[in-house]
Amino acid sequence: MSNKSLEVVIIGAGIVGLTCALALEKEGINVKIYEASSEYKEIGAGLGMGPTALRILHGLGVSGDVIPPVEQLHRQENFLQFRSSKEGHELIYDSYKSKAVDERAGLYGVGRHRALVLAALAKCIKPRVTHFGKRCSAIEASPYGGRTVVHFTDNTSVEADVVIGADGIKSTVRQAVLPEDDKSDHIGFSGTVAYRGLVPTPVARAAGVNSDFPMGMNCFIGKDKHIIVNQIQGGKLINVAAFITDPSNSFSKPYHPDENAWVVPATTEEIERDFSDSSNELVTLLKCIREPTKWSICAVHPALPSFAKGRVAVIGDAAHAMLPHLALGASQGIEDAHLLAKLLGDPRVSAEHIL
Ligand SMILES: Cc1cc2nc3c(=O)[nH]c(=O)nc-3n(C[C@H](O)[C@H](O)[C@H](O)COP(=O)(O)OP(=O)(O)OC[C@H]3O[C@@H](n4cnc5c(N)ncnc54)[C@H](O)[C@@H]3O)c2cc1C
Repeated sequence: MSNKSLEVVIIGAGIVGLTCALALEKEGINVKIYEASSEYKEIGAGLGMGPTALRILHGLGVSGDVIPPVEQLHRQENFLQFRSSKEGHELIYDSYKSKAVDERAGLYGVGRHRALVLAALAKCIKPRVTHFGKRCSAIEASPYGGRTVVHFTDNTSVEADVVIGADGIKSTVRQAVLPEDDKSDHIGFSGTVAYRGLVPTPVARAAGVNSDFPMGMNCFIGKDKHIIVNQIQGGKLINVAAFITDPSNSFSKPYHPDENAWVVPATTEEIERDFSDSSNELVTLLKCIREPTKWSICAVHPALPSFAKGRVAVIGDAAHAMLPHLALGASQGIEDAHLLAKLLGDPRVSAEHIL
């Protein structure tokens, strides 16, 4: 039995919004997505995906090379080696050899290009479900009772039984689930910036990066800094994320997203300066990143008292954007989408029950 009478609007067509739309459609629920950009968009970087998220996407019919069946994954692909960032890259800890991890055998994930994951999801979305160029500006209860009204910056609006904010860390929808007297942005700067980018493996090799970076993840550690290096897309590309932290500036003051650019172009010179104490090979790899970007790493902080209020809910980064060090933010959001769709799809749930 399906819940066909419920009308749901999702704000945001990122990985989490698209997953939620597919999951709701599977439950027989009428869904529309409103996205601020003019097309589906993801940044050129890698994305680690956990096994639960992969299983959910498979169940929704997202498959192919980008989302392989979990059973086909290679155990080694998802294990992390911690090494010194200094010359010689001394091995500090190898999770592949760890007994603790062995006992959880079967919990594998993959590293993928973000844009390809989004494209694989978008391919499954039916035409006319996503409305582009629609930036949500406010949400309010309908004056005619029951439903919720979403307003857009182009002065249009839509009504729905349920509104789901999948509009990322700078969420507009989030304000609608906060207590009335809470005017905080709920965004904190962690004191860490990350330089990010992808390097084609042959480019790195030609520049002199000769180490055999294994298929697993590598974390090269220095003082208040670490560099994540992993091959993605079957070894064709190397994903690089180089983090540097100022611990004195961690969640220490309010952070206003409109006053601070979060992602800015970076120069090779500043990356070289920040990581000059790393090995020559790592510096060479960092210099190979074309058009590197510099990210201020933020999180939803302080945590929200609730992810839902009345007929509005937030999921993914809008609800709980977290620090990226477990590489699980998107995967967690995929799980949110799955669970919320199951809840709304329960035949016992109708618009009248959602208060
Ligand atoms: C450096 C770094 C590395 C990371 N690595 C990993 C990793 O390896 N694995 C992992 O699982 N996660 C990782 N994450 C976290 C992951 O990127 C996020 O958790 C995930 O992308 C969130 O997806 P989302 O769909 O919730 O939000 P987003 O991807 O931010 O999508 C939000 C969408 O909403 C749209 N939007 C925003 N505002 C509005 C509005 N007002 N109206 C309409 N549309 C709007 C946006 O245009 C966008 O399309 C990393 C994060 C960082 C910063």
